[in-house]
Amino acid sequence: MSQDVTRGQADSAEALVSSGAASALRVALEQYDRAADKLNLGAAVREVMRHPKREVTVHFPVQMDDGSTSVFTGYRVWHNVTRGPAKGGIRFHPLTDLAEIRALAMWMTWKCACVKIPYGGAKGGVTCDPKQLSIRELERLTRRFTTELGEMIGPDSDIPAPDVNTNAQVMAWMMDTYSMHRGYSVPGVVTGKPVSIGGSEGRQEATGRGVIYTLQEAAKAIDLELQGARVVVQGYGSAGESAARFIAELGARVIAVSDSRGGVFDGDGLDLPLVTRHKQETGSVIGTPRTRAVTNAELLELDCDVLIPAALEGVLTERNAPRVRARLIAEAANGPTSPEADDIFRERGITVIPDILCNAGGVTVSYFEWVQDREEFFWSIDEINARLRRIMVRAFEDVQRTAVEHDVDLRLAAYMLAVSRVAEATVTRGFYP
Ligand code: GLU
Repeated sequence: MSQDVTRGQADSAEALVSSGAASALRVALEQYDRAADKLNLGAAVREVMRHPKREVTVHFPVQMDDGSTSVFTGYRVWHNVTRGPAKGGIRFHPLTDLAEIRALAMWMTWKCACVKIPYGGAKGGVTCDPKQLSIRELERLTRRFTTELGEMIGPDSDIPAPDVNTNAQVMAWMMDTYSMHRGYSVPGVVTGKPVSIGGSEGRQEATGRGVIYTLQEAAKAIDLELQGARVVVQGYGSAGESAARFIAELGARVIAVSDSRGGVFDGDGLDLPLVTRHKQETGSVIGTPRTRAVTNAELLELDCDVLIPAALEGVLTERNAPRVRARLIAEAANGPTSPEADDIFRERGITVIPDILCNAGGVTVSYFEWVQDREEFFWSIDEINARLRRIMVRAFEDVQRTAVEHDVDLRLAAYMLAVSRVAEATVTRGFYP
């Protein structure tokens, strides 16, 4: 195929970018373009990687407990499957739409390439508010969505996992539904399952653990002592809660955490088991005894050493980046920082460990889970954590070396590595037919 590309035959990759300055898709495309500009990519391969390979939108009915029927909309996007099967989580959120899922799928491609695990990138979601659904409604929604995805998912083609507002139970329903249609158990169709049905030890805390492994390396690089460091965690879901717990175990003081409703602060360091219990009992961290309330906006600008955004995209922008006081930002969330905020952080000497590196521990242990399911041979927690640490530390070193070599920040370095790996695979395979 000629390296000339005719634009306009496919929808432009920007087709769904919304006007919001921090829209996830705009951010993902800008980050990609910055890396592509640095790498000497052929025009065709550059254009191919800018587009998702496959996108499915489904509308489906779910019977509600009161006897009524609601119609929900769900998505699954494969961004790129050149290096292996499509991989990425499923989120349930009221604001999820195709543009967001497209961005998140692209980030999964770069994440898997960044830590060198043999997957492509995908993401899925259902637009819904899971907090308004009963457990049975959630189960029916999950099972019907799984069925709607049909042949798209499978252990060799596309392997979902938990993401925002989904968990091991949701994965168990997906695995069961898929297996019912096959007539036999297929544990490898999803990762992040309960251990009792083929899940992996350590998967639940893997994202948080990986965040801490990269954070320890970055702290060494900038001479930041984690013992006694003040840490702020925005988002207290699966990734945020475990990252907070692990960094506290290293002797840091977690002074503030938040969830979607707001945050809590204690300058001496929060009693994390108490915060977790309060959230389990009341549904929110707000009102944890002996804490002061802070808003999510205030929390991001608190005086601290380490900031861990662990919730949704688009929280650090040119509007608040000048006032962020952390020395180190560790992106447990996907897409929390806009390119403009990245520029401000670079100017201000604030180090950002980019999402595609920082939070890759989740998909890395997903990979271990999938390998164990395929081999039907399961590893110990010590073996899993040791392998996870090796992969995260090696990836950090690769990114750090690239950043120094090219005098770029860690995000651009991580992208340069990831994008060039996918590009190399694409060129090696060639274009069919
Ligand atoms: N949802 C997680 C992420 O964004 C995990 C994906 C996976 O394990 O496939 O990385």
